[in-house]
Amino acid sequence: MARRTEVVVDLDRIRHNIHYLKTRIDARCAVMAVVKADGYGHGAIPVARAAVDAGAAWLGVALAEEGEELRRAGIRVPILVLGTSTPEQMELAVRQRLDITVYTPDHLATLRTICHRVGRFARVHLKLDTGMGRIGLEAEQLDDAWLASFRVPELEWVGVFTHFATSDAAEPEGTRRQLARFLSALNFLRGRASLPPQIHAANSAALLRYPGTHFTLVRAGLAIYGLKPFIDAEGLLPALSWRSQVVFVKTVPAGFAVGYGHTYVTKQPQKLLAVPVGYADGYRRAWSNSSFVAIRGFRYPVVGRISMDQLTVAVPVEDPVVVGDVVTLLGADGLVMVSAEELADGMDSISYEVVTGIGKRVPRRYQGN
Ligand SMILES: *Cc1c(COP(=O)(O)O)cnc(C)c1O
Repeated sequence: MARRTEVVVDLDRIRHNIHYLKTRIDARCAVMAVVKADGYGHGAIPVARAAVDAGAAWLGVALAEEGEELRRAGIRVPILVLGTSTPEQMELAVRQRLDITVYTPDHLATLRTICHRVGRFARVHLKLDTGMGRIGLEAEQLDDAWLASFRVPELEWVGVFTHFATSDAAEPEGTRRQLARFLSALNFLRGRASLPPQIHAANSAALLRYPGTHFTLVRAGLAIYGLKPFIDAEGLLPALSWRSQVVFVKTVPAGFAVGYGHTYVTKQPQKLLAVPVGYADGYRRAWSNSSFVAIRGFRYPVVGRISMDQLTVAVPVEDPVVVGDVVTLLGADGLVMVSAEELADGMDSISYEVVTGIGKRVPRRYQGN
């Protein structure tokens, strides 16, 4: 490590997670590995390669630019852009043979123009809003006029999909209601002999909880990284570890104040350790005086305010911690663990925000193939 702070991603664990998810779905159902936001902070290209190698037939991204990055890395499987694309992003998607999410007549009109200019057809997935209340055509508005606008030679209608708002919650009612609305839209399409080949709805939580949502394809993000979409999810192995090193140790007396604002004062003599990671690396200031790190198989508290580039850890005087010891900020160390879920709780958020928040200046290293 040049810098003493790094993220290590175990690609064998990504593979394990894909294999595990495949045991939870029907053999005819495919997995889309969602690698938006640089693979949830893990690195989109290495994760995508490992996921495809382990049997993910599809990839999902939020932006056409993210899909382009994968295509430039030589990845050839179908890639769906899950978010809304501007006309420029639609053109990029058509050129890079990315599948595009559409849900307004404008999207279709823009795409047809682009297809004529580029000399290619476009692959599209219709997004239905069944209760997420975000992007998508309100499911009940799908009608014959819509179908007619899809039946044009420039467009290859590949899929229809929806997204759940509450599949990670204990309460199943919200997902049931969304599923019912989705099923009636599918019935309408079936009645018109217009079902596209791909039908998809499930994210990680729905994949693990609701087999009735699997259809032909499941879109798994969080779970492929081994993070739990709900507390009692099993079988997943977290792939990411975030580590640094002790760069300075000093023993201080009781009454010693630490860091900006002097928010921590020692109650007895302690060893204070300096660790070169801070909020500019994504180690949130909100974790000041509340998070833990692991060193030599023990958990120790982060004390005082977390600064931009460093933090302080307090250790009992008798514990044999020295400069150069590995500090696990996130991940396992011997028998102890610092989980993304616990860090998320400490910032009133979810594990997604913890891992996607690890900064660009933290180098990523890969284990496994
Ligand atoms: C991000 C995303 C997913 C993946 O969700 P996870 O909860 O991470 O599995 C699936 N579908 C859509 C539309 C998304 O935007």
